[in-house]
Amino acid sequence: MVPYFTEYFGNPSSLYAPGLEAKQGLVTARQRVAELINAEPDEIYFTSCGTEADNWVLEGVADALKNKGNHIITTKIEHHAILHTCQYLEKFGVEVTYLDVDGEGFVRPEDLEAAIKDNTILVSIMMVNNEIGTIEPIKELAGIAHNHGVLFHTDAVQAIGNVPVDVKNLDVDFISMSAHKIYGPKGVGALYKKKGIQIPNLIHGGGQEKKKRAGTENTAGIVGFGKAAELARLNLHSHMNHSSKLRAMMWERIEKEIPDILLNGPKNFSKRHPGNLNIAISYIEGESVLLMLDLNGICVSTGSACSSGSLGSSHVLDAIGVPVTKANGAIRITVGDNTTEEDVDYVVDTLKQVVGKLRELSPVNGAEGW
Ligand SMILES: *Cc1c(COP(=O)(O)O)cnc(C)c1O
Repeated sequence: MVPYFTEYFGNPSSLYAPGLEAKQGLVTARQRVAELINAEPDEIYFTSCGTEADNWVLEGVADALKNKGNHIITTKIEHHAILHTCQYLEKFGVEVTYLDVDGEGFVRPEDLEAAIKDNTILVSIMMVNNEIGTIEPIKELAGIAHNHGVLFHTDAVQAIGNVPVDVKNLDVDFISMSAHKIYGPKGVGALYKKKGIQIPNLIHGGGQEKKKRAGTENTAGIVGFGKAAELARLNLHSHMNHSSKLRAMMWERIEKEIPDILLNGPKNFSKRHPGNLNIAISYIEGESVLLMLDLNGICVSTGSACSSGSLGSSHVLDAIGVPVTKANGAIRITVGDNTTEEDVDYVVDTLKQVVGKLRELSPVNGAEGW
C-alpha cells in the first residue's frame, strides 16, 4: 500500500503518469478480489466498507423493483448493517420478514420457501454468522429464491477467506465483502453484483466505479484489499486447517477444565467459521471476563464488536434461544493466522483463573437458572 501513498499518489481518474499507475493498482486489485470469489472483475464494485455494500443492495433493490413488490426476507441473526437498513426501509413502506433460525443458528430452507410471496423482491441471508460462526446453506437458499424469481444477496463478510466462496457455484446475485476481516485495511469493502442486474447508486456524484459508486477511490486501501484477497485465496486451506486445529484444541481444554460452560452455535465444527468459539460462562458477566482477559493481553469480544459498549444482550444469542442470564456470560474468542498453540494454552490457563476469581465473587455462583 505504501507506494500508493507516496510515488503513485495521483488520482486514478486522471491521465497523468502517477494517475495511470494508481489506476493500474485498482485494475489489479479488482482482478484479485474477483478471483477470490470466482467472479469477473467488472462484477466487483469497491465501497468504503462491508456496511456500505449491505446498505447499497437493500436500498438499491427496494428502489429498482418498487413496481414489482416491496417485500424483503432476511433473518433475525444478520449483522446490524442489514438489520438496521431493513428497519430504515420499513419507514418507507418496505415490508420485511425476519426468519427465525434453529438452536444453532441455521436458517431452515422450508421457512424461506414458506415466507416468499408474490411481492417478494429480495432475500438477504448472511453466509457465515459473525457471533456464533454458523455457515448457512447459501446454495440451497439461493436456489429456493431463484425458483420463485427472487433476487438473492448474501453478506459474506465473515465468509471470504474463511470458507470457499464461489459465486458461480453458489449462484447468488449479490455478495458483500470487507477488507479488514481478511487481514486487509479498514475503510474498504466491495459489492459483487452479477452482470446484467441493475440497481441505482447509493452514493451519487462522479463517474468512478463504472458510474455506479461515486467518489475518488481509496487507492491505497483498495490495493491493500486486493493483496489481502490474493493471500486469502492462496492461503485458504492452510488458514482453515490452522484455525480449526487451534479452535478444536481450545474448546477441548475449555470443555474439560472449566465447569458450567455452554457452547453457542454449531456443535459440528465443520459447519462453523474455522476460528470461531462462542461460549456462555455461567454465573458471571462476559464483560468482566473480557476486561480481565484484556489486562492479561488477551482480546476477546462479548456479543458482537459492533454492539459492544451498548447494553442489552446479543440479538443472535437471543434468536438461538440462549436465556438472558446465560447470554450475559457469553464471550467470543477467535483464533487466526497469528495464533499459536502456546497462545491457546495461555488463553485457557488465564481464562480458568479469571473465571475462578469472578465466580468466587459472584452472588449467583451455583444458583439455578444461571
Ligand atoms: C464486520 C461485518 C460487517 C460490516 O463490515 P464493515 O466493513 O466493518 O462495515 C457486515 N457484516 C458482517 C457479517 C460483518 O461481520
